[in-house]
Amino acid sequence: MAIERTFSIIKPDATARNLTGAINALIEKAGLRIVAQKRIRMTREQAETFYAVHKRRPFFEELVDFMISGPVVVQVLEGENAILKHREIIGATDPSKAADGTIRKLYAKSVCENSVHGSDTTETAVVEIAQFFSSNEIVG
Ligand code: GDP
Repeated sequence: MAIERTFSIIKPDATARNLTGAINALIEKAGLRIVAQKRIRMTREQAETFYAVHKRRPFFEELVDFMISGPVVVQVLEGENAILKHREIIGATDPSKAADGTIRKLYAKSVCENSVHGSDTTETAVVEIAQFFSSNEIVG
């Protein structure tokens, strides 16, 4: 199976509760390697670009406000089948529907403040990684 890269964010609700290490432990336990990582404060413009696909959704403004409300940790993860594997350990968007043992089931506060992001396709992974990392910042 091909080695893939995916884009991950540890969101402000999780950094606020000092959960970066706990979430990274679950990522690494699943066999994914953290090949790039930085803690940043997203600008409103960055958050709006990142979630542009949701621009017309009623929760867009709330989502952007949340994403810039505190620090986030942006990451590139690498491994076999990384995109699907990461989505599996993240769990469903709504934590009340997420499977036991998933990051969102364990840590998310609500459907908006749901602790983590993971790319959903190969195409979005490429675009999302390029928004936050240059190639020389990714060390596999
Ligand atoms: P994901 O791929 O599982 O992150 O889900 P989506 O791409 O559908 O949504 C992007 C993000 O928007 C989610 O991770 C949540 O933070 C937020 N979100 C999604 N649905 C809702 C909603 O119904 N209400 C609110 N307030 N936020 C939402």
